[in-house]
Amino acid sequence: MRVPLTTRDFLDRAELVYGDRVGIVDEPDQPAAPLGGLTYREVARRARAVAAGLDALGVGEGERVAVVSHNSARLLELLYGVPASGRVLVPVNFRLSADEVSYIVEHSGAGVLLVDPELEGQLGGVTAKHRMLTGEEYETGLLRYDAEPRPWAEPDEDATATINYTSGTTARPKGVQMTHRNLWVNAVTFGMHMQVSDRDVYLHTLPMFHCNGWGLPYTAAGLGVRQVCLRKVDGAEILRRVEQHGVTLMAGAPAVWNAVLEAAADWDGEVPGRDRVRIIVAGAPPPSRTIARVEEELGWEFNQIYGLTETAPLLTVNRSRAEYDGLAPLDRAKALSRAGVPALGTRITTDESGEVLAQGNTVLAGYWENPQASADALEGGWFHTGDGGGVDDEGYLSISDRKKDVIISGGENVSSIEVEDVVFSHPAVAEVAVIGIPDEKWGEMVTALVVLAEGASASEADIIAHCRAKIAGYKAPKRVEFRDAIPRTATGKIQKFKLRESFWAGAERQVN
Ligand code: AMP
Repeated sequence: MRVPLTTRDFLDRAELVYGDRVGIVDEPDQPAAPLGGLTYREVARRARAVAAGLDALGVGEGERVAVVSHNSARLLELLYGVPASGRVLVPVNFRLSADEVSYIVEHSGAGVLLVDPELEGQLGGVTAKHRMLTGEEYETGLLRYDAEPRPWAEPDEDATATINYTSGTTARPKGVQMTHRNLWVNAVTFGMHMQVSDRDVYLHTLPMFHCNGWGLPYTAAGLGVRQVCLRKVDGAEILRRVEQHGVTLMAGAPAVWNAVLEAAADWDGEVPGRDRVRIIVAGAPPPSRTIARVEEELGWEFNQIYGLTETAPLLTVNRSRAEYDGLAPLDRAKALSRAGVPALGTRITTDESGEVLAQGNTVLAGYWENPQASADALEGGWFHTGDGGGVDDEGYLSISDRKKDVIISGGENVSSIEVEDVVFSHPAVAEVAVIGIPDEKWGEMVTALVVLAEGASASEADIIAHCRAKIAGYKAPKRVEFRDAIPRTATGKIQKFKLRESFWAGAERQVN
């Protein structure tokens, strides 16, 4: 028998098995009326009300519904309700500027746009056929409890469930098409490797828009895990929520855990969650020192995964194994600092240039309306990650380098070319190269090296302000250095590795 693997399975099971259990605790501190604690039965009822509302608006199967929101219970129910009814959810990064969001809404062809009331100030001008704020307007204008939703006519595991826009090597972001099958396999494999169970309490320290919160909302629902929403990453607030809700599981980039470590230093009494919490880290290679501190100062179990939005994300896992039990803390941290071994069903290799290649059921179907980029990414039957790395003799992958011109700052991808375009649009700029340099807090810091036009003048602050007005703040350079010239090859290509050299001298690897 073959039953299509669709994302609907996860909430269906939550409702059937854990219907009476509080499944989602909404963030109390938000401009929309918070939903409080919702049982999985209520979540499922609301997710059906979303689908019935979309029926009423005439939004058909395969059509796109975009949402720009901080973490919230409403965003979670959209992750369940929209794909489960055969439509496609487009979760958008809430830090993007109006122009960037407009591009995504247009490119994805979304007929519905849902906007967090907190973002209305910055996104007021972004339009779509149907547009609603995810507060009162959404409750009364979208949700329909008076009609049963029309069932998805022919559920198909290869249908697109979500499109996640991600910055890559092009100026504009690309839309990663995740199928139901991609999300299903990711959620189940992830849950298995992390031994997720109905005793877990998951705190959303990861933005839910980012790769659908790494697909963990599906894992959590399928296994009856209580999910606690957190809107703003703040070290002390994370510790408070861990204490208040008995949190056992969290995920995030190294910058999140650095913030927690800082807050723990000022925490009164025993840090909550000792010997109970496990964290999952990805986005950048965490330093061994951070790993050792997480395990010793917090008493939390450290796990690393590696993957991309394009791979749902799970590709490799590094979870402490029985063999590590006897290791001294620093040796153990070293072992855990590798990206990991392939998750079940995934194959990893590197090509002659050192680029990491992957095969598996979490790899994207393609980029939305971009056949060339899809063909390039999947050339030769392998997914080309754009990351450089190596596999050691124990079979563990380590990421040491980046082949793509992308900077990862605080866990978010920044396309160097996109930032270069914006810096270049400043009238005083004659030439620009944007690179990432190692940074204690953000991992990598977006840095612009600028040659000014003859006779023109501009300060570092002018250029930063110019960028912040046009693109998301996290993409704008945090530092600008002025140069007389930018080294190029004979064919005129900028030699970024030369520009990076002085900043990365002495670094163990070329990513941070
Ligand atoms: P994104 O698609 O925004 O989730 O970013 C994916 C990128 O993050 C990858 O291509 C890597 O460059 C980086 N990344 C993710 N996990 C790790 C990890 N464990 N170690 C090093 N880099 C990572």
